Amino acid sequence: MFDLSFLIQKPFLFGFFIFGIVLIRYLLFAGLAYLIVWKRKWSDKFRIRQIYPDQKIILYEFLNSIHTFIYFALTGSFISYLYNQGLTQIYMDFDRFGGLYFTASIFLALIVHDTYFYWTHRFMHLKKIFPYFHKVHHKSVNPSPWAAFSFHPLESIVEAGILPLLVLLFPLHPYALSIFLAVMTLLNVEGHLGYEFYPKGFTRHFFWKYFNTSTHHNMHHQFFSCNYGLYFNWWDQIMKTNHKNYHSYFKTMRP
Ligand SMILES: [Zn+2]
Ligand SMILES: [Zn+2]
Repeated sequence: MFDLSFLIQKPFLFGFFIFGIVLIRYLLFAGLAYLIVWKRKWSDKFRIRQIYPDQKIILYEFLNSIHTFIYFALTGSFISYLYNQGLTQIYMDFDRFGGLYFTASIFLALIVHDTYFYWTHRFMHLKKIFPYFHKVHHKSVNPSPWAAFSFHPLESIVEAGILPLLVLLFPLHPYALSIFLAVMTLLNVEGHLGYEFYPKGFTRHFFWKYFNTSTHHNMHHQFFSCNYGLYFNWWDQIMKTNHKNYHSYFKTMRP
């Protein structure tokens, strides 16, 4: 396996490395979604709303997302600094905790991130905070896959904040962190896709109802003050913040 221990000790290099990784993943996932799904005949019946955003807005989403990765890179450099100070729980020896822990740590990262996202998202929706942090992301009222990281710099810092938090909280192998970042990018693109591919009854299923859908986040961009969650639906269920028509809206697409 590629040895990351040298890279992580060099703040500038590691920041640059993180920039490259997040950029490539974004271009790959959003690019594939845009090329294969967006405005294609075969996918038309899966489209959540029949209207499409302006090309200008799509370019705005793209440029903002690229800009966001600068803050992700700076966070990478910050993690490298913390690592050199011996403050993180990043471990390099895969056998130290074994494969089971490695897998569990990815799920744990997703659960912690989901909670972090829900509450910081709600914070950024506070009237006094919204214009400074979150307004840029909501310029997309009908997002394209390119909107996944379309943030104001202040929001970028909040979103990137999950990474130092995770490496301070519990032991994480760099490969676990990489898989977590890939899942995060993939599901973020899915949330902004504008197409719903999940099957009929998904939002009412005893198990799958705890997972979010593309419709869920699309409704957040349409109606603002609802559907705040990222990967899972439990916080929206506990806090009763799902849109009151979420299930019926989903049903109109999957009758
Ligand atoms: Zn969004
Ligand atoms: Zn929002």
